[in-house]
Amino acid sequence: MADYNVITIGGGPAGYVAAIRCAQLGMTTACIDKWVTPDSKPSLGGTCLNVGCIPSKALLDSSHHYAFLQKQAATHGIQCDNLSIDVAAMQARKGKIINMLTQGIAGLFKKNKVTSYSGTARLIGEKQVEITTPDGKKVITADNIIIATGSVPVQIPVAPLDNKRIVDSTGALAFDNVPKRLGVIGAGAIGLELGSVWNRLGSQVTILEALPDFLAMADRKIATTALREMKKQGFKIHLGAKVTSATVANDEVTVTYQDKKGEQQLVVDKLIVAVGRKPNTENLGAAELGIQIDARGFIQVDEHCQTTLPNIYAIGDVIGGPMLAHKGSEEGVMVAEHLAGENSEMSYETIPYVIYTWPEVAWVGKTEEQLKTAGIEYKIGQFPFSACGRARAHGDTSGMVRMIAEAETDRILGVHIIGIFASELIAEAVLAMTFKSTAENLAKTIHAHPTLSEAVHEAALGVDGRMIHA
Ligand code: FAD
Ligand code: NAD
Repeated sequence: MADYNVITIGGGPAGYVAAIRCAQLGMTTACIDKWVTPDSKPSLGGTCLNVGCIPSKALLDSSHHYAFLQKQAATHGIQCDNLSIDVAAMQARKGKIINMLTQGIAGLFKKNKVTSYSGTARLIGEKQVEITTPDGKKVITADNIIIATGSVPVQIPVAPLDNKRIVDSTGALAFDNVPKRLGVIGAGAIGLELGSVWNRLGSQVTILEALPDFLAMADRKIATTALREMKKQGFKIHLGAKVTSATVANDEVTVTYQDKKGEQQLVVDKLIVAVGRKPNTENLGAAELGIQIDARGFIQVDEHCQTTLPNIYAIGDVIGGPMLAHKGSEEGVMVAEHLAGENSEMSYETIPYVIYTWPEVAWVGKTEEQLKTAGIEYKIGQFPFSACGRARAHGDTSGMVRMIAEAETDRILGVHIIGIFASELIAEAVLAMTFKSTAENLAKTIHAHPTLSEAVHEAALGVDGRMIHA
C-alpha cells in the first residue's frame, strides 16, 4: 500500500491548493516543496507568495500611496510637505506580508492534515518520489502524483544577470534604494508592474519591448489608453526594440538595442530582464519516466491535466497556458475533484487577466480584434470612467469599460476594462460569462450608487445603445 493517496510536488498556488482540496475530499495527502527563505526556513506559496503576486502587490500599493501623496493629495486639500520614502521600511512591510501568508498556508496544511515535506522532489517511479533534504534522501509513495513545479524567469544571453545591476523580477522586488535610471527589457505584466513601482518612487523608467504592439494580448483601445497613461506618468516606452547587448561598467549598465531608427543606446543604473518565464522541470525525472514534455519544456496534459502516465497529473505554470496563480489553483481543484470521482472541469474561456498598473487593466473573454478575425458579429457598449460619479469622487477618471456581446444572442463574449480598481470590477464580468449571461442580464442587475461597478452596468446598457450617463 502506498504511503499517501496523493503527493503534490510544489507548494505554489497550484500545488498547495490541490493538496488542500485533495485532503478535504478525504485523500491522505502530502506536499513536497523546496522553497526556503534566505535563512533556510521552508516557505510555502511558491513564486506567487514569495517572489511574485504578493510582494509585487505590496510594493505596488506602497508606491501608489507615495505617488498619491506626491501628485494628487493636494487636490483633496491635503498638504504633504517633506514627503520622503524609507525603502527599507517598505521592504520590511513587504516581508511581513509574505511571512504572514506563507505561514498561513502551513497553518492550512495542519488544519487539513496535509503532510508537508521540505526538500527537492524527483520522480523515480510511477508512484515513487525521492525527496532530497540537507539531511539526506527519503522515498515516499502515492497512488497519484500531481506535478506543480511552476516556472522560473527566462534569461537572455544578450543581457546576462549579475544580480546587482542586471536583475530578474526577484532582484527587482528587493532593491534597497530607488534607482535613478531604470531600464526594463519586456513590456509584459512583470515589466509594467515592477516598472510602475520604481517609477512611482522616482526612477526614470525606460522599457524596451521587442514586439511592435503594446500589450499585444489586450483589446487595442484598452492597450492604446494604457500606453498613453503610462507615458503621461513619465515612462519612456520603446516598441519594436531588439536588445543586442547589456554590459556593466563603472556602476552603470549600457544597453544597446536596434529599433526602426537603427542602433540605439540606453544607459541606466539598474536593468530588469522581464521577458517571460519557462517551465520548471529540471532534474524532476519526469521525462525519464516517459512523461511527454513539449519542445518548450511544458508538460503535456489532457483536459483533466492528466499526463501521459495515467496516475500522474500536472497543473499550473509547468503545463503552460496563461501563467497565472488563479489558473493553477483552479486546475488543482479540478484535479482533486476528478481524483475523487467528481465531474469537475476547467473553464479556460473565463480566466480573468489583470495588470496592476495605474490605471489597472483587466479583461476576460474575447477582444474585438479576435471576434473580427473569427467573423463573429458583435455589439459593443463602452462607458468612460470620466462619467462615473464614484470615479470622480476618487479623482481617478481615466479609462473605460468595454463590453462585447454577440450580435445575434446578446451573450457577453468579452469585457475589457482600464481604470481604477479594474482588478475588482472584472469579477462581475467573469461571473456573468461563467453563467453565460447576456448583456441584458447585466443591464437588468441593480448596481449600488455611487460605485465604480456602475461603469460596468452602463457598458451593459451601452450594448443596446441605452446608456443613461454618457
Ligand atoms: P510556483 O508558484 O512557481 O510554485 C512552484 C513551487 O514548486 C515552488 O515553490 C518551487 O520551489 C517548487 N518546486 C519546483 N521544483 C520542485 C521540486 N523538484 N521539488 C520540490 N519543489 C519544487 N500571477 C497572478 O495570477 N497574479 C499576479 O498578480 C501575478 N504577479 C506576479 C508577479 C511576479 C513578479 C511574478 C514573477 C509572477 C507573478 N504571477 C502572477 C505569476 C504567478 O506567480 C504564477 O503563475 C504562479 O505562482 C504559478 O503557480 P505554480 O504553483 O504553478 O508555480
Ligand atoms: P510576459 O510574457 O507577460 O511578457 C514578456 C514581454 O517581454 C513580452 O511582451 C515579450 O514580447 C517581451 N520580450 C521577450 N523577449 C524580449 C527581448 N529579447 N527583448 C525585448 N522584449 C522581449 O512575461 P513577464 O512579464 O516576464 O511575466 C511572466 C509571467 O508571469 C507571465 O506569464 C505573466 O502572466 C505572469 N505575471 C502575471 C502578473 C499578473 O497577473 N498581474 C504579473 C506578473 C507576472
